[in-house]
Amino acid sequence: MTRRTLLTLPLAAAANSQDTLAQARAIHATSLGVDSHLDTAQRVLMENLDLSKRHADGHVDIPRLKEGGVRAPFFALWVPVYYKGSEAVRRTLQLHDAMLKVFAAHPGQIALARNASEIESLAKAGRIAAVLTLEGGHQIADDLAVLRTYQHLGIRSMTLTHFRNNNWADASTDKPVHNGLTAFGKDVVREMNRIGMIVDISHVSDKTFFDTLAVTSKPVIASHSSCRALSPVPRNMSDEMIGALSRNGGVISINFGEGFIHPKDAEALMRAVQSVGYSEPALSGAALDEYAKKSHSTLLKPAAVQAAISDVANHIDHAVKIAGVDHVGIGSDYDGISGPPNGLPDIGKMPLLTAELLRRGHKEDAIRKILGGNLMRVIRETCG
Ligand SMILES: [Zn+2]
Repeated sequence: MTRRTLLTLPLAAAANSQDTLAQARAIHATSLGVDSHLDTAQRVLMENLDLSKRHADGHVDIPRLKEGGVRAPFFALWVPVYYKGSEAVRRTLQLHDAMLKVFAAHPGQIALARNASEIESLAKAGRIAAVLTLEGGHQIADDLAVLRTYQHLGIRSMTLTHFRNNNWADASTDKPVHNGLTAFGKDVVREMNRIGMIVDISHVSDKTFFDTLAVTSKPVIASHSSCRALSPVPRNMSDEMIGALSRNGGVISINFGEGFIHPKDAEALMRAVQSVGYSEPALSGAALDEYAKKSHSTLLKPAAVQAAISDVANHIDHAVKIAGVDHVGIGSDYDGISGPPNGLPDIGKMPLLTAELLRRGHKEDAIRKILGGNLMRVIRETCG
């Protein structure tokens, strides 16, 4: 090798990586990006976050959604499991109301989207198409009338549990008590199918997952779960589950949380989960909301993590290998994770992930499916 080639090689590599990034940005500018799980609604409610402005902290706002090409974010109206019964319904309505205020304040930038054609027309007009979802079946207070009312309010998806069992479904991070879904739990799945709400199996136990697949007539999603083969936490999906999900026509959306994608961070996450005792406050109304606000402020301390952008790409590669390219999506969990991966600090940096996928040989049409095409198919099949 001559001295001349030694000098020119790094320059050629740099030019190459600039080209790849430019190609990635072009893909994001012309794709309908969907992220099936963001926890930003908490910040809107409890921190009065102005979504229209760019913020130095947090992971998501409208300028960064546009930069990252995420036109159709799913905003989870997450209610902690210590809100019980009608208190959980009240809290859900507070979160819903907080998001409606955002839509009313910035109608030219963001609006509620209830189906695939609303998403497409909003995105075409350069607006963010916000999909509202629920995170935890306890939010229906064991009543299908409440579920149907949420659907009337424009909510289009629900995880069957959060991190504890509820009265009709077992969670992945609790001791099983129902052996999966109860008879009422199966009715919830059927009713969601009937009224056009997407069944979300992130957070449920393996048995609840398989019970759900046996009942559902529509594709289901894992809105924010990664691959257990690479990071062995119960919240991730085994290869057997990923295979079954693809045969159902569903989508696994890869979670970017450090413990979900890097085994070393997973160990730390599991230690933290096991060492923290879970207690439920005996509070209601404003006092309970105050308790939730205090917990929120301690929840998202930025953490030093091992996980990097290459780990996200590894999970995408693994899910594509097991499920096929038509069944993989993005569910970053931004604003719900303490340590985003190195190289992917917020949703505005999504083109860097796409550049990594291009470098690994993924074709442009496959990347467009992963960035949103696959989730759009499920939305169309379920919500119209
Ligand atoms: Zn979650």
